[in-house]
Amino acid sequence: MEKDSAVSWNFQGSNKVKESSTHSIARVVVEVMKNVTAGEKFIHLGIGDPSTIPCFRTAVAAEDAIIQALRTNTFNGYSPTSGLPLARSSIAEYLSRDLPDKLSADDIYLSVGARQAIEVVLTVLARPGANILLPRPWYPLYEAFVAFTGVEARHFDLLPEKGWEVDLNAIKNLADENTIAMVIINPGNPCGTVFTYEHLKNIAETAEKLGILVMSDESYGHLAYGSTPFTPMGVFGSVAPVITIGSLSKRWFVPGWRLGWIAISDPTCILQGSEIVEGIKSNIDISSDPTTFTQGAVPQILEKTDAEFYSKTTSILKEDAEICWDLLNHIPCIACPHKPNGAMFVMVKLDISQLEDISDDMDFCNMLAKEESVIVLPGFILGMKNWLRITFAQEPSVLKDGLGRMKAFCSRHGKKK
Ligand SMILES: *Cc1c(COP(=O)(O)O)cnc(C)c1O
Repeated sequence: MEKDSAVSWNFQGSNKVKESSTHSIARVVVEVMKNVTAGEKFIHLGIGDPSTIPCFRTAVAAEDAIIQALRTNTFNGYSPTSGLPLARSSIAEYLSRDLPDKLSADDIYLSVGARQAIEVVLTVLARPGANILLPRPWYPLYEAFVAFTGVEARHFDLLPEKGWEVDLNAIKNLADENTIAMVIINPGNPCGTVFTYEHLKNIAETAEKLGILVMSDESYGHLAYGSTPFTPMGVFGSVAPVITIGSLSKRWFVPGWRLGWIAISDPTCILQGSEIVEGIKSNIDISSDPTTFTQGAVPQILEKTDAEFYSKTTSILKEDAEICWDLLNHIPCIACPHKPNGAMFVMVKLDISQLEDISDDMDFCNMLAKEESVIVLPGFILGMKNWLRITFAQEPSVLKDGLGRMKAFCSRHGKKK
């Protein structure tokens, strides 16, 4: 049959995809990695997945829990869309240990990692015309989903000179009657900061004044090793409703297990029955569920992981944070405003004017990868041009090596006096 040349094929996809894909850490890291010479052993300080690093191997109890769940032959089917009741109630119990108002299984919805939890909540919040308050530096996933849903993103700064605390004064000026929520990430990605109890209280009171909920991403919950203990935002759920995002990925170093959750802390029942809670239920009904045997393993993972695993892994992160603080402060073209006390990241500022032949943060990362086989993340992808994010979850000796190479690189490219 002859082809009809008059046919005009209609292959136009959504333009939103293009816009939201500009916010991908993975893409930028692939670009930077292209500079590493093949076969060269590289040091990855670019992304937060230490699952392959021997000292961050997950807890034996967690591995056993998965194996046992699989062997029971009872977790091979679909789970209920909100998650297996036994998993939901064990997460409710786990989170309630640190909350004045206890959560029940009905307050928990399981998701495919924290990532899907974020997607579900942002989709539900995305009423046409609404705006949402997001932190800068940001975690690009929020920018990507917000761009996709079409909600307006309004950014408040995290202040480096104040230990990356939220600029609460700015929030009052950013918000209006169409503001639907504010997002915080605590412990912080990309800043490695842990908010104090007082600061979280101030955030809750600000949200209350504005009549909005707080979406608190606690993917790094409990990974706090400085003098500030981790306080979940849910503690202030009676001041303003809190939607908490969590997952097994970071505390257990198993991002590949894809188990996350949404928890709703709303003891005064402001959100109850609202479009937001109903929307989360509906959206969860039509989205994918985490693998059922991983859900089946959750109670054992949460109950049986020994204290030693937590203390060992956080003390390595603490040692890594100290190494960053000591070494980075001795690199002339780099300023490190705040010593990280949580999560696994530090943000540093590049002084481009001190460098001979480097034009910006991306250029810095490309050349560093090429010359020293060290991968770090350029700040532009986090909304901070000419900054860098360093992921320090590494064997301490490897981290020292990586930062040493970075120092050598900077002195080689530093302006000669
Ligand atoms: C890693 C990360 C996520 C995604 O976590 P998964 O459980 O792997 O989906 C979400 N938020 C922040 C801040 C993260 O760093």
